[in-house]
Amino acid sequence: MGSEREPQYVHAHAGDNVAVVVNPGGLPAGARFSSGLKLREAVPEAHKVALADLAAGEAIVRYGVPIGYAHRAIARGSWVHEGLMTLPEPPELSSCPLATDVPAPLAPLEGYAFEGFHNADGTVGTKNILGISTTVQCVAATVDHAVRRIKAEVLPRYPSVDDVVAITHPYGCGVAIDAPGAAIPIRTLRNLSLNPNFGGEILLVSLGCEKLQPVRMIPAGALPVLEEAPSVAVMQEARHGFGEIVANIMELAEKKLRRLNERRRTTCPAAELVVGLQCGGSDALSGVTANPAVGFAADLLVRAGATVMFSEVTEVRDAAHLLTARAATPQIAQDFLREMAWYDEYLRAGGADRSANPTPGNVKGGLGNVVEKAMGSIAKAGTTALRGVFAAGERVTQKGLVFAATPASDFICGTLQLAAGMNVHIFTTGRGTPYGLAVAPVIKVANNSGLAARWHDLIDVDAGRIATGEATVEKVGWEIFLLVLDVSSGGKRTWADRWGLHNEFVLFNPGPVT
Ligand code: CA
Repeated sequence: MGSEREPQYVHAHAGDNVAVVVNPGGLPAGARFSSGLKLREAVPEAHKVALADLAAGEAIVRYGVPIGYAHRAIARGSWVHEGLMTLPEPPELSSCPLATDVPAPLAPLEGYAFEGFHNADGTVGTKNILGISTTVQCVAATVDHAVRRIKAEVLPRYPSVDDVVAITHPYGCGVAIDAPGAAIPIRTLRNLSLNPNFGGEILLVSLGCEKLQPVRMIPAGALPVLEEAPSVAVMQEARHGFGEIVANIMELAEKKLRRLNERRRTTCPAAELVVGLQCGGSDALSGVTANPAVGFAADLLVRAGATVMFSEVTEVRDAAHLLTARAATPQIAQDFLREMAWYDEYLRAGGADRSANPTPGNVKGGLGNVVEKAMGSIAKAGTTALRGVFAAGERVTQKGLVFAATPASDFICGTLQLAAGMNVHIFTTGRGTPYGLAVAPVIKVANNSGLAARWHDLIDVDAGRIATGEATVEKVGWEIFLLVLDVSSGGKRTWADRWGLHNEFVLFNPGPVT
């Protein structure tokens, strides 16, 4: 422990009775802050210190809300860790206010643009990728084999195409395909194929006998180009072995590469961006550094007309009452409550509840419980009205700030946000993760400068400068906004893209497996 710097803490809200220690490595007992507060014991970095004497049962207030109740009396200057806190009850969904505190629209922000790929359906890509989708896991290894050969033998002839990506997954057969839960993975696969970064040129590989038939995955009209027969390759129709199967996939792929290669970036308003927000490996600084900076950038993007999507049901559940109040209409608030109730029931049926959320790393990073995590997490969503709510795997069709319901699992959330139409991703982290996606660029923002320094070649933005006073939320927010435009234009590459760190597609399947 110990630090060269003056002992320093940050408040999330003026009325809070705890604050978070900022110094890298934490502070020893006896450390004295400029306010006069002296630590009674050592407090790790990003953990909470009591600013006042707290009685047993008294609310521990952070972000202006009770994040828990003191198990026993806690003296001023003590370390307030998760073992001292009782989890509050979640907000009762039936008593959440509906559109009672709708923020007034912010002034439009004009003149910001990026260089993107226009698609026939009106969407805009930030990358130009050939996607090869699959109906069933049976064909995954074959498609991976074909993609390796396409990348080595064919792609070099089409330099305007950024990548070839196989959309492989464990779904498609051995599942109760008509069960209500099956709708989620099926529409996720369909809408993944419609992601703007695939340019409407998806190729679909099927086995033949699987439950998820191509017409069920992509019904007629969902993706006009697929109505041309050559866009679907069915393995069991091949007569001359594996060589013919691979040659067929490669030949179809080349037709699509030829068309994709004709595309050029053109200037598009920032309004064409569909920005997905997510966090992973959070710590207690996330709610005062990276997430507020991303929230500031989210407001700028909304002002510029873009779609900004936040997700992760278990991380917003404890802030449900704040978000329903912010909904633009009572119907949008009701839609939000529907998604919360669905997830409450999903967890209950699995014998769990929202307290399953914080990870050991979250807790080590100073996050006492899921309420504290939620209050930090929703800072990402900025301050504008909630304009729409979409169920898991649905395609987002609304500009402004929207909620796309997903689990908090990084890969499942990322996959569902891609299905929702995300063309650029902003990801905040405190503990650090090398997370990345092949389909959309992932901009990683660090909550603390220690992580940004250690992982200088994995982290794109250091928001830890906000805690140490080296930068403001506004300054880092503008940096993130401008970086989004640059990355989306094919300019600066994210670290995840430079290293090719691309996590798997992971479907959310709440339905039964047979
Ligand atoms: Ca996450």
